[in-house]
Amino acid sequence: MPGRPSSGTLEAQAAAPANIMAIAAHPGDAFFAMGAAVALTVRRGGQGVFLSLSLGEKGSSSIAPERYAALQREAAISAARRLGAQAEFLNYLDGEIAASEEAKLAVCDIIRRYKPNVVVTHWRGSWHKDHVACYDIVEDAVFYSGLPALTRQHAAHNVAKLYFADNWEDATGFAPDTYLDITPVFDVWREACALFPMWRGETGFRYDDYYSSLSVARGCLSGSAHAVALMSPPEQLVRHVQAL
Ligand SMILES: [Zn+2]
Repeated sequence: MPGRPSSGTLEAQAAAPANIMAIAAHPGDAFFAMGAAVALTVRRGGQGVFLSLSLGEKGSSSIAPERYAALQREAAISAARRLGAQAEFLNYLDGEIAASEEAKLAVCDIIRRYKPNVVVTHWRGSWHKDHVACYDIVEDAVFYSGLPALTRQHAAHNVAKLYFADNWEDATGFAPDTYLDITPVFDVWREACALFPMWRGETGFRYDDYYSSLSVARGCLSGSAHAVALMSPPEQLVRHVQAL
């Protein structure tokens, strides 16, 4: 169906390098919760794009939003470069992201421009309103992107796979079904994350400790040193088989 992710096997996904886009409410979410999957895709010969809907500029209690916005943008650009990926931004205000038609079409346009076959974004089970809005925006943007009859600047593009990231703020009902071995890129991903002041715990949450040790815990569950866990939309898990 146009606009909907298709179902498929793990073997099929592994056959060709993916072109992946991480879409997050704030740059920290894009790199900390989704960045290792992007880094691995790039390492395997694919392309990676980080799209932040806002700069997370209200995230510091000690640095004014204008200054913090610049720091966040700088960190995102440097971190994307460190991972061989690109950084894109939309200029919505931190804490005020709305799941508007305008936002859904803006994200649709960026999806059509980069043509990712894999998109990673927030799970809707979040206490953070921007994260819930991002989930809603991306669900519809992916749908819009795949609609040939929706005429925009770029031609329709079908996203093959949509995944939701393992994020400490989006834990309600998060049930991972896919484990990605990120061991080959663990070090470089952590270096990229360290370009953000908040990674070191300066905003009150110990991001480095949490996401680094989470990768070990997810690795324990999936037989690798480091892994990230992802959740699929239910329809993506439907299998078509000739025999059981
Ligand atoms: Zn966030």
